Amino acid sequence: MPGALDLLRYAHAHPGVTRAEAAARLGLGSGAATEIMGRLRAARLLGEVAAPSAGRGRPTTVLVPHPEGPLVAVVELTHATWRVTTAAIGGELAPAPVHRHTGDPATVLREITDALRARTGDRLVAVGVSVPATVRGATVVQAATLNWRDVDLSGLGLGRPLTVGNDAALAGVAEALRGAARGHAVALHLTVEVGVGGVVLIDGAPAPGAAEFGHVPFGDPALHCPCGATGCWDVTVDGRAMARALGRPAPADPRAFAGEVLAAARSGDAAARAAVERAAAALGRGVGALLNALDPAVVTLGGLGVDLLESAGDVFSAAVRRAAMAWRRDALPPIVPAALGSAGPAIGAAESAFAGRLEELLTRR
Ligand SMILES: [Zn+2]
Repeated sequence: MPGALDLLRYAHAHPGVTRAEAAARLGLGSGAATEIMGRLRAARLLGEVAAPSAGRGRPTTVLVPHPEGPLVAVVELTHATWRVTTAAIGGELAPAPVHRHTGDPATVLREITDALRARTGDRLVAVGVSVPATVRGATVVQAATLNWRDVDLSGLGLGRPLTVGNDAALAGVAEALRGAARGHAVALHLTVEVGVGGVVLIDGAPAPGAAEFGHVPFGDPALHCPCGATGCWDVTVDGRAMARALGRPAPADPRAFAGEVLAAARSGDAAARAAVERAAAALGRGVGALLNALDPAVVTLGGLGVDLLESAGDVFSAAVRRAAMAWRRDALPPIVPAALGSAGPAIGAAESAFAGRLEELLTRR
């Protein structure tokens, strides 16, 4: 028979669910649901508020995080900014200001640690960190846009369990658990910003491995990538690729440059349009190759990938089809924009911090 852990997991995965709906989904009688909710309330994990009247049937309640319940802290680091926020059971992120940083690791980490101490207290149970980087354990191995190598982030845990993840991979985790890839056994998520990052999700969890899709040589073998390899997919799908197509020098901020080229293409500039289509075709060719290799049931695209899909969807789709094996072309999986947009990495960092922790919280409290 389902128990307290099942109801806790269900409420975490389905914020806003009513007690009646959760009980029905789990096959719990109303007496058992009442008894279990009593336990979860006493453990300060879940609370209840009156549900809006549905007009008929017995009144029910909405399951909400307990007001004194556990929190995970979320640190979101980008190439130019950082943010510290918190999430309760149910995964909702508290509003938090975004700060700019100078890029100096010691300064950034000190600022973040101060913010973590200021925002969290006894309720803190874990810390999740999102970084635009290749990560091993709690170490940033290489972050090209931050110009960081081998930076240890273990101090950000404040003595609690710490998970550090790549931003694109965490966006994929968020899509698999709460977004457009939810419910699929195998999903592929790709975020294009400067280069392309991503992850394969198996039953909502990232597949092991570095998954450096951007550095698979789906690109032009004559092109050198800042990573040290040649032919990388990374440099063919973003603002750098658009600048090359337009005969312009390498842009200082490739993401901003891509935005300008997309805007010019939308307003009818033929050269800009051709540069956008070239990037969309390069993205589609690699996606088609990954369909052959990984056989995902759905592909979600984030960042600039959404713009390329919207601005040059036909060119993108044609390139996917050309790269896909013939038998696959009649049954391509849906390739859709990520549902959570720019919130994905922080939501994924919160989920990684909560992962496997609900059981521990229940037995401890
Ligand atoms: Zn590379």
